[in-house]
Amino acid sequence: MTNFNFFTKHIKNIYKSEDFIPLHVPRFAGNEKKYLLECIDTTFVSSVGKFVNDFEIQIAKKTKAKKAVAIVNGTAGLQVALRLSGVNPGDEVLTQALTFVATANAILYNNASPVFIDVDIDTMGLSPKAVSEFLYEFGELRDDGCYNKKTGRKIAACIAMHTFGFPVHLDELIKVCKDWNIPIVEDAAESLGSEYKGKATGSFGEFGVFSFNGNKIITAGGGGAIVTNNIDLAEKAKHLTTTAKKPHSYEYYHDELGYNYRMPNINAALACAQLEQLDSFLIKKRELAHLHADFFKTKGLIFRTELPETKSNYWLMCLELENKNERDNFLKYTNDKGIMTRPIWQLMFRLPMYKDFQMDNQTNAIFLEERIVNFPSSIRKRNKKQN
Ligand SMILES: *Cc1c(COP(=O)(O)O)cnc(C)c1O
Repeated sequence: MTNFNFFTKHIKNIYKSEDFIPLHVPRFAGNEKKYLLECIDTTFVSSVGKFVNDFEIQIAKKTKAKKAVAIVNGTAGLQVALRLSGVNPGDEVLTQALTFVATANAILYNNASPVFIDVDIDTMGLSPKAVSEFLYEFGELRDDGCYNKKTGRKIAACIAMHTFGFPVHLDELIKVCKDWNIPIVEDAAESLGSEYKGKATGSFGEFGVFSFNGNKIITAGGGGAIVTNNIDLAEKAKHLTTTAKKPHSYEYYHDELGYNYRMPNINAALACAQLEQLDSFLIKKRELAHLHADFFKTKGLIFRTELPETKSNYWLMCLELENKNERDNFLKYTNDKGIMTRPIWQLMFRLPMYKDFQMDNQTNAIFLEERIVNFPSSIRKRNKKQN
């Protein structure tokens, strides 16, 4: 059994702290206060205001997607993205079981069924090879899309999640999904700033969805964004998330069942200030990752780094431990010492609401579930002078 004393020392040394060290805290070093005060001074704190529009423009620019729609949170963004990709009640959606629960919840909110497909060991995200194997066995291409031969249901979409900021094998996934006529939604909640062959994650699928929850690489307090290169779909997303109200100066007419999912201006103000700092956050994250990579190499531990032709935003740092015993030992030791660490998520099919859905063998997902841990990943505070 490894003694992880060297690990706790390393982390305390990095954060120059003997106190409790959390997993990920936001950093407010820019225009946050200024923009928030502006909301209050102008009374524009709610669903109308310039920061929402600004933020949409800036997120689209950052990801080089044609359009972005600001949303109340990432989960709601996924729900709407699926619906607009053509997911109807009774349909099926391919996704990974190794993910945060929101990915699967967004499918169920649409009264569709998830089908859990394995991940790749290297990316920890949806495996194009596993998707291809599943479709080879169960897929049937008809005029209006792909159907599952086993259930007779339509496979209406595929959600891939870029785990901790590491992009999935997008070229391969796009090819498989194109062959089977299945639209891709990227759950890019964790991967703002990550790139695949020089292009932003989130900009490859029919839709990409980001989250700006408090623990993500930038935060709006709570918030999300849908990005797409399809202007028509972007307009539909905006419409659906703003109660499907037809624009009119005084009449209230709603032409379908919409949602109140618009990001409030006060959250967008925070988001704008944070987005201005994203590039500097990414540099600092990368510096941290290099530090960890060098350190863990000397200890013979596997620290996960980005794959060739990709860039990770290094949102949450992760180690791959030897086996489940080592993992449990690590988690207990470090948390006892006041260093917050956690295992990767329990696989979705272990949760009561997801236990009865179709899935493949999940070999890689189970391997990773037993071994991957996250540890404190916040950007380090510098004193004012250095900043
Ligand atoms: C954070 C997260 C979400 C949801 O984002 P919220 O803004 O918290 O609703 C979705 N998927 C993944 C993988 C996430 O990590």
